[in-house]
Amino acid sequence: MIDLRSLYQDVILDHSRNPRNSGELEPCSHAANGNNPLCGDKVRVYMQVGNGKIDDIRFDAKGCAISVASASMMTELVKGTEIGEARATFERFHEIVTRKGDISDDELEALDKLATLIGVREFPMRVKCATLPWHTMTAALDGVADDVTTE
Ligand code: ZN
Repeated sequence: MIDLRSLYQDVILDHSRNPRNSGELEPCSHAANGNNPLCGDKVRVYMQVGNGKIDDIRFDAKGCAISVASASMMTELVKGTEIGEARATFERFHEIVTRKGDISDDELEALDKLATLIGVREFPMRVKCATLPWHTMTAALDGVADDVTTE
């Protein structure tokens, strides 16, 4: 039997050590900053959006492995998708990591690589690390000028 926990850990470490789509995106149509003071995570998300679609997305992050890995996975998942789809992906992820009840196999599958992050459910502080990049992406889409903070 595969040890899911250590498999998940490997994926998270890989994304945090070799973040995908990291670095500034210039020019970009949307950008926002996020801040998780409890853990010290900081992220800036850049996007090029046209015709309701996220054509490109990059990020700069300084923080724990969870926050960087979540940002890296986010860019892979939302790049090239419709804005509505990107928002729905976050809503699904957010609902599941903040839910107390069980998660079905179908829900896990729908999360795709984000399923590797659901261990944060047991640690509310870690939920903030995992969701920070997503809140920041949403703020960028909404044109929020102030920094997003988890507090
Ligand atoms: Zn963190």
